[in-house]
Amino acid sequence: MSAKALLSDSYAEDCLWQAQVPAPSSSPTPLPSTVDVLVVGSGYCGLSAAHTIALGGKSVAVCDTERVGFGASTRNGGMVIPELKAGPGTLAESYGDLGRQMFRDVNEAFDLVEKLAEDHDFDYVRTGMLHLAHHASRVRDLRAEAAEYKAEGEDVRLLSKDDLAEEIGSQRFHAAVLHERTGALHPAKFHSVLAERARGAGATLHARTRVTSVERRNGAGFRATTIRGAVDAGDVVVATNAYADGLVPPLERRVLPVGSYIVATEVLEPALAKEVSPRGRMFVDTKNLLFYWRLTPDGRMAFGGRRSLRHPTLEEARDFLYRSMVETHPQLRGIRVDYAWGGDVAMTLDRMPHFGRIDGVLYATGCNGSGVGLNTWMGMKAGEVSLGGAPPAFATLTHRAIPMHRWRSAWLPVAGLWFRLQDRTLLDRQGR
Ligand SMILES: Cc1cc2nc3c(=O)[nH]c(=O)nc-3n(C[C@H](O)[C@H](O)[C@H](O)COP(=O)(O)OP(=O)(O)OC[C@H]3O[C@@H](n4cnc5c(N)ncnc54)[C@H](O)[C@@H]3O)c2cc1C
Repeated sequence: MSAKALLSDSYAEDCLWQAQVPAPSSSPTPLPSTVDVLVVGSGYCGLSAAHTIALGGKSVAVCDTERVGFGASTRNGGMVIPELKAGPGTLAESYGDLGRQMFRDVNEAFDLVEKLAEDHDFDYVRTGMLHLAHHASRVRDLRAEAAEYKAEGEDVRLLSKDDLAEEIGSQRFHAAVLHERTGALHPAKFHSVLAERARGAGATLHARTRVTSVERRNGAGFRATTIRGAVDAGDVVVATNAYADGLVPPLERRVLPVGSYIVATEVLEPALAKEVSPRGRMFVDTKNLLFYWRLTPDGRMAFGGRRSLRHPTLEEARDFLYRSMVETHPQLRGIRVDYAWGGDVAMTLDRMPHFGRIDGVLYATGCNGSGVGLNTWMGMKAGEVSLGGAPPAFATLTHRAIPMHRWRSAWLPVAGLWFRLQDRTLLDRQGR
């Protein structure tokens, strides 16, 4: 197969979701010089925090370095999966009651999105998700995964290779766990809904307003400096996830930004879309450097993943994903790519989300690739804590710095190579 992706005439190095939904505009009011709470970052987390705080009767301003919603919140795969790095049984084994509470919380985050979908249109559908064994040796792990979730009363099913014929137009997979409690949404529409809710509650949104420093004031509160002037704030919520810059250095050192990329094809003929994905499920495989893919609301295939942990060029990422998509679904050979884009996910050392205060400011971070529901929920929790509420269970986890964070561009490719070799060795052994 050609090493290059087949591109349509209208191909753009652009994000499909952002091309379909204009970014929420900045508030017409100038940045206030005093505010009860300043929120840094205008993704799901920052907007959700701002909404909660404004509803609580406090004044709140949200700043973003770029346009409103520049970060992962308008670039992601739109899969709403109530998951942490491990299943409920393993979480309980590793963390005891804390593990059980964290599993309840991630489910509460999922419910929050479904509740919002009752009153707002962001193309939400309860689709279910297939976790697909990319190698025969992973079937045993999937059996254990299904048992863990079943023990919690979750609606999951282990599907054999034969069962998969009704679920996915691909011969590559050996089995799958079907998780019914998964949904799909349009990321930028969801983001716009959160922006409107925050604004409707009284928050102001300020694009192209990078916050460059935050210092505690003598007495109480903080003085933040932005490129548009200083803001005195009673409290500060930092909702920068993978896009954490040097604003709060200890936070930056605790988050590893890792690139993730997506290609979206031209709109598929309905019969072809049905052949590839008969039930419109979300698909995720079991590799270390996994693929995730789905049909979009307008009937394209969106295929995402990464080849390594270094940041490749968008062209390299696109060509790799296109080849992988066609290897997975040979019936998509000849289908052209309309869009290719990337964004950063926030990895943490223990691959868990984290929440708390660093240098006095509130923060929530560490989606580890699954933050559509969770970061929205953590933003709401950050708002509640700023209003005097109790922090969530994630706040009790120790949030360790990433070793040799400053030299990550040197060691990340090596770590990525190791993951890729593990994935590759399994596939080579079965002759692919
Ligand atoms: C390609 C991709 C696919 C993904 N797919 C999925 C998926 O299918 N399902 C899922 O659950 N999760 C997925 N995720 C993860 C999910 O998108 C994120 O967890 C979530 O969007 C994070 O939201 P957030 O508000 O915390 O951060 P973001 O949306 O990343 O927002 C952070 C913002 O902070 C701003 N900022 C940073 N520093 C400053 C500063 N000093 N001053 C002002 N502003 C600043 C940035 O400009 C940015 O806009 C994916 C992520 C990517 C990149």
